[in-house]
Order: sequence, then C-alpha cells, then structure tokens
Amino acid sequence: MKYALLNRGDQLSRDLTEQFQALAREKGLTRDDSEPDIVLSIGGDGTLLQAFHRFRDRVGQVAFVGVHTGHLGFYADWKKDELGELVELMAARKPNVVSYPLLKVEIVTDGGRSVYLALNEFTLKSVEGTLVAQVNINDEPFEMFRGDGIVVSTPTGSTGYNKSVNGAVIHPSLEALQIAEIASINNRVYRTLGSSAILPKHHHCDIVTDPDELLAIGIDHLVMQFKEVRSIICSVADEKVHFARYRPFPFWNRVREAFIGWEQDGQVVTKKRPR
Ligand code: NAP
Ligand code: MN
Repeated sequence: MKYALLNRGDQLSRDLTEQFQALAREKGLTRDDSEPDIVLSIGGDGTLLQAFHRFRDRVGQVAFVGVHTGHLGFYADWKKDELGELVELMAARKPNVVSYPLLKVEIVTDGGRSVYLALNEFTLKSVEGTLVAQVNINDEPFEMFRGDGIVVSTPTGSTGYNKSVNGAVIHPSLEALQIAEIASINNRVYRTLGSSAILPKHHHCDIVTDPDELLAIGIDHLVMQFKEVRSIICSVADEKVHFARYRPFPFWNRVREAFIGWEQDGQVVTKKRPR
C-alpha cells in the first residue's frame, strides 16, 4: 500500500506529518507522492480540497483520508490523537471505499473550452459588480439572474458555501447538483426561483453571461478571473471521488456534530463540544 501525504503547512500539521511517517515506516507502508493508493491530508477540509486538486488526474485510482487538526471536518474526520489507530488500520486491511458525486464545469470562452471538476462547488460572481446571467436548464430558458452570484454545489459541498446561502444539505448517496443563489434581486425584469434547485444526474444547467463581463469563477478553494465567457455548463460528473473508510462515520452524524451538537446518552448535547 502506497500513500501520499499533504499537509496544511502549519506547525501542528507538519508535526503530525512527521509522526505519521514514523508510524507508517514501522508498519511497512511506503510513501509515494506520484502514484499512491491512499492520499492522506492533514489539516482541514480546505487541505483535502487541495489534495483533491493535486491528484485530480488520478481521482479514479486513489482514495482520500483526512485528518483534522482543529474542528471536525466534513472530509477530514480523523482526529490528531488517532494517528496510531489509523496507521494500524491502513497496514492491516483494505478500507471500505465510499464514492461521492463530483461536479463537472465546462467553461466556454471565445478562446476555447476548459473543463474543471469540483469537489465542493463552483461559484460565479462578477468582478465589477452585480452579476447578470441567464440560467437554462436542459437547454430551456429557466430564469434571468441578477444579484451577487450563483453557487452550484455537489452533495458533499452542500455543507460548505451552499449552506451559508440557505441551500439544502444533501446526502452524498444522491447523484445530484444544487444551484443556489447569492442575494438575487427580484423585480419585474429579473425574476429568479428564490430558493435553491436540485438537479439529478443527466440534467444540466447552462449559465450564459455577457461576454464583456469580467467574471470571478471559483472552483472549490481556487478563484480565477475569466473574460469572453459565452457559457458555463454544469452537470454531475461521470467520475466520482473515493474516500477510504476505516470505520463508519455516517454523514448525518457529521452534519449533527458540525452544526448542531454531539450525542450523549441518546440525546443531542449542544452546550459545550469536546475537543
Ligand atoms: P476557508 O475560507 O478556510 O473555508 C471556509 C470554511 O469552510 C472552513 O471552515 C472549511 O473547513 C469549511 N469547509 C470546506 N469545505 C466544507 C464542506 N464541504 N462542508 C463544510 N464545511 C466546509 O477556505 P478553504 O478551507 O480553502 O475551503 C474552501 C471552501 O470554503 C469552499 O469550497 C466553500 O465551500 C467554502 N466557502 C464558504 C463561504 C461561505 O460560507 N460564505 C465562502 C467562501 C468559501 P476547514 O477549516 O476544515 O478548512
Ligand atoms: Mn480552510
């Protein structure tokens, strides 16, 4: 079993990296940052997003594992004091692999077409001010959007930016994408749905903007500026991301622990969270 490792770069993450490597050597695990089976990320969800994009070309062949150094993460669900247990499990057996949907984003400009994969979401904003965009669903005009921006997220990304703009939390066993609005303006000219919309696999949405508008396009943690954009096509990707699960941690438990509270004696405790 070969593993790659990526950390956030802070002192704690680097110390944990050292610690993990020493434990892994003892167990005979080899580090291979170019053709790994497992990609370990030490830091937070943001670190796992970076790891995902670093291994984007091998996304079908690797399984990710995330260790968090602070608060519980959605992708990073191993605690810093559990490295010993994690190494034992990695050396002892093959993990259960769970696969989650990704978002495919095709950006068509006058210069050509570029394709991105997002683990969390795609965001669209205007650099200069209000974004104006026509949203088509399955090649039919759906709405004319005017406002701060649009977030199109994956199910695992639904607890990220999407949730901050009132989108729904979606279980990652559903192959879907969610379109959510950031502060839409509604009047006679511009009218939007006003709530988020969830599309199944094999549906797609096209976002058409004025090619003169300078756009800020976000793919997960990365933001890029684009001009001369003709349209942006979002759909559920054919590829999926794989996570190595050495122990169960149901999605709804993660949602509860991140946003509501923790379980104790059959009740949800919200007062004080354990570190
Ligand atoms: P960041 O600004 O450090 O991330 C914002 C927060 O989102 C961090 O607490 C991060 O966790 C958390 N997060 C990331 N993915 C998540 C997920 N799938 N579910 C729940 N929480 C999640 O930037 P970053 O660490 O590079 O992460 C980029 C992500 O931040 C974007 O993909 C977007 O989802 C999110 N974001 C949210 C807002 C907003 O809510 N207004 C605005 C911009 C970006 P960690 O601390 O563990 O990294
Ligand atoms: Mn972060």
